[in-house]
Amino acid sequence: MALRNRATLYRQLLDSWTRLAPSSNSCDPSTGAFTGATLNRISPQRSNPALLQQLFSSPRAQFLLFRGSNTVSAAESGHTLGYFGASDILTWFANPFDGPGSHEPKVVLKDWVLLGIDDAEHPTGDSYLAVDLPAYYANQPVYWAIDVNPVYQAQEEGPLKNTAQLLDTAMQQGNYRFSEARSVAFHFNAMDSTLFAQASAMVDWNHRNRYCPSCGRLTVSKEAGYKRICPPDEVSGEITGQDAKPPCVNRRGIHNSAYPRTDPVVIVCVLSPDRSRILLGRKVSFPTRWYTCVAGFVEPGETLEAAVRREVLEETGVAVGPVLYFGNQPWPFPNNLMVGFYAQATSERVVLEDTELEDAQWFTREDVQAAIAKYTPTDISEAAPTELRLAPPYSIAHQLIRHWAVEYETSL
Ligand SMILES: [Zn+2]
Repeated sequence: MALRNRATLYRQLLDSWTRLAPSSNSCDPSTGAFTGATLNRISPQRSNPALLQQLFSSPRAQFLLFRGSNTVSAAESGHTLGYFGASDILTWFANPFDGPGSHEPKVVLKDWVLLGIDDAEHPTGDSYLAVDLPAYYANQPVYWAIDVNPVYQAQEEGPLKNTAQLLDTAMQQGNYRFSEARSVAFHFNAMDSTLFAQASAMVDWNHRNRYCPSCGRLTVSKEAGYKRICPPDEVSGEITGQDAKPPCVNRRGIHNSAYPRTDPVVIVCVLSPDRSRILLGRKVSFPTRWYTCVAGFVEPGETLEAAVRREVLEETGVAVGPVLYFGNQPWPFPNNLMVGFYAQATSERVVLEDTELEDAQWFTREDVQAAIAKYTPTDISEAAPTELRLAPPYSIAHQLIRHWAVEYETSL
């Protein structure tokens, strides 16, 4: 692209930016999922066992239960998460931070995650310096996520069988049930939705990283669930019950740890060169007439803008010039971060180079406005075969499209 042409395109898109830019760079919490609330994750305290012991037993503790990475405790309606208090949890399980020998006969779960403190009045500035933070944290509402899957997997064994029955009874009494996460995750309010996004991704990550990728030893959870290490050779057997193995390469240098990962995905609303239409595509697996933004994973060594241009070109054959950031949305299936962009095309001809999409088309503002007006959350799969259908409002794809179609002025 000639330099002058490229500069002109950027100026055009930047001129529009005040109208394209959302008020917040997160997915709109009034309609979007997985955003809208903020916990203090108190990451500096994750290695403070005295505080963690207090927080695990706190009368203000709320525990969210998972059975593996895809099943979460939710109200029978599916519209709220199902939390348990410390009084219940400590009936079934030992406080993992209690001293040696104090656990019998309770079950000691190995996988739990401290989500954070709900502290809207967190001290700042001078008052921050004057406060004993651990003591302050110990009195705030605190959220945990626990994977109880081992209880159900091994329930034939002694105390675990009894614990599984107690858990089932408590679930029934609370009108809770274990639900497949995707079937309930889009109905929660902002607080539950935000907590779910963090908890689900963390439980999934711990669930998938039980073994060291270099030597196969069982890993050990550290830092309140945010780190897993391959244990030292001299204590490996003691911790994990495994026989000695050759020294692990992960114990050398700086590599003896694994941290939770977040995988960035670019999601792009492509504007036509004159910005009068947008380019949307569909996969074979989508419901009839469902079209949405182009999306794909960022590859190693790639900038976000390069990923935008590559994905759009690969999937649609359309070349893209200016790229502008819109906002982002956690997408915990299992641990993605959707990073939304507008991009201005420099070509219009659609060529489906890879097999990712079965179709991609340019749609006018009128097409999109009509689709938004007709949208109802329950009729996605029943759309008339001739009508454009869009991704649902809780997704950043919908927000990108709607923002352009409804809130972006047409007079530009
Ligand atoms: Zn290892």
